[in-house]
Amino acid sequence: MADCIFCKIVKGEIPCHKVYEDDSVLAFLDIAPCSKGHTVVIPKQHGETVFEFSRNANGHLMGAAIDVMKILKEKVKCQGFNVGWNHGKAGGQAVSHVHVHVIPRYEGDQGGSMHSIVTSSKEGDVDEVAALL
Ligand code: 5GP
Ligand code: ZN
Repeated sequence: MADCIFCKIVKGEIPCHKVYEDDSVLAFLDIAPCSKGHTVVIPKQHGETVFEFSRNANGHLMGAAIDVMKILKEKVKCQGFNVGWNHGKAGGQAVSHVHVHVIPRYEGDQGGSMHSIVTSSKEGDVDEVAALL
């Protein structure tokens, strides 16, 4: 997509520090890292969310993200990770091109877990949602 910043990185129009690349996936260092080694893993094909990609394509993206974890573990010697993606405006997605954040974690880095992203759940939510399923 012409005005997409990540498509421009894929095309080489904007430089990046490459971490991993294959035929359909590119991974590069985040320009505003949450921790040392923070990397984004993207499909080369433009799509706003994972819902626009096939199960196979999404599976390949996840496999590449796991390869990136292995590379980072080796290179930056982190002890853990948070891995995931901000999906949609409500989920904090700023760049409208699918990207998996691979965020290295270090002992004593003062960071939180998935449970620190949002804490809006109310009593009774589990039963209410379970009834919907
Ligand atoms: P989002 O908030 O959409 O999940 O994450 C977008 C990420 O892309 C942010 O962490 C941001 O720092 C990163 N980012 C935005 N523009 C650029 C860029 O031009 N180059 C690189 N390497 N990262 C970028
Ligand atoms: Zn794009």
